[in-house]
Amino acid sequence: MNNFEYARARSVDEAIKLSVPDSRFLAGGIDLFGEMKEYIVSPSRVIDLKLIPELDRIDTSTATWKLGASVTMAEIAKNRQIIATLPGLAEAALEVGSPQIRNVATIGGNLAQHSRCWYYRHRDLRCLKRGGATCYAREGENKYHSLFSGNPCVSPAVSNLAVILAALDARVKVRRGDKDSNLTVEELYSDAWNNPLAHNSLLQGDLIIGIEIPTQKNRSTYLQVSEKGDFDWALVSCAAAGRKTGEKWEGISVFLGAVAPIPYRVESPLFESGEISNESVESVAESIASKATPLAHNGYKIPIAQALIRRALTRMIS
Ligand SMILES: Cc1cc2nc3c(=O)[nH]c(=O)nc-3n(C[C@H](O)[C@H](O)[C@H](O)COP(=O)(O)OP(=O)(O)OC[C@H]3O[C@@H](n4cnc5c(N)ncnc54)[C@H](O)[C@@H]3O)c2cc1C
Ligand code: SF4
Repeated sequence: MNNFEYARARSVDEAIKLSVPDSRFLAGGIDLFGEMKEYIVSPSRVIDLKLIPELDRIDTSTATWKLGASVTMAEIAKNRQIIATLPGLAEAALEVGSPQIRNVATIGGNLAQHSRCWYYRHRDLRCLKRGGATCYAREGENKYHSLFSGNPCVSPAVSNLAVILAALDARVKVRRGDKDSNLTVEELYSDAWNNPLAHNSLLQGDLIIGIEIPTQKNRSTYLQVSEKGDFDWALVSCAAAGRKTGEKWEGISVFLGAVAPIPYRVESPLFESGEISNESVESVAESIASKATPLAHNGYKIPIAQALIRRALTRMIS
């Protein structure tokens, strides 16, 4: 990789001050160093976030839980309160990569990780997402690519956390300059729907400080299908969450991952009415087939997505 300057930030303010037009934030480094070794990015400065104390915290003292951006997948997966109250979040973290990766990978890095498209990751190719003229995947090897996209790039968002956090109505706290904003997960990714160059809606120098998760949704689950049992991203993932009070359901949300450049919301009038049952689950699963635009090699993702919707909803309501 190219030479770079290494800087350590000890506060959020310092991280922002250290930011220069071509710097990058460093969390676990799994994704960033991969890109740097392949010369996909060559930042002049890397700003390490790991010594910022406030980014390490898990605060469950109020009804909206706050998790700092440096909290790791392993810490989420083993946290007893998270397992009991937001099981879908613990399940999503536990499905990331392998134990070694989970010990290092952080919330901020997981949400901001870049495309896994093999053309994007090839050091000698300059596809549309890297500022070139062509999407090689559209007419090429597209077995891992999107079923839904609003732009010519068909690389899907693969963050496990994005899918479950979207279902849980979480907010992502982002510092831009001297201003903090609380984005929905859909807002965090919306730019990637229309813009082939975007992996998400973050601008250069934007820092994810943490996530805020309301705990009102007392049922949640996350499922994925991968080619390998470990050390692999999902072919398709699915998260479902909702609130059950007595026999009444409210706020049901279902999202799919690895099928679109954003966490893909599965819509159904049943979710509004709260009239969800084992029988009606089938119609939700069926509904996505007509909306998908499969490529030459990724049509197999449709039945997987349908099976995951059925399983996730059935698991959540039973
Ligand atoms: C073999 C393998 C399997 C994997 N499987 C999965 C999987 O199944 N599911 C899944 O979701 N992920 C998976 N991952 C991805 C892994 O979880 C990510 O690489 C990891 O989450 C990146 O986190 P990190 O902390 O190492 O981030 P880094 O590599 O340090 O950063 C990643 C990107 O985010 C930016 N960034 C980091 N922190 C912040 C912040 N606070 N604010 C703004 N930008 C920031 C960096 O500048 C960089 O661009 C896998 C990775 C590997 C290598
Ligand atoms: S899918 Fe996106 S990242 Fe992959 S080759 Fe096409 S433009 Fe590049």
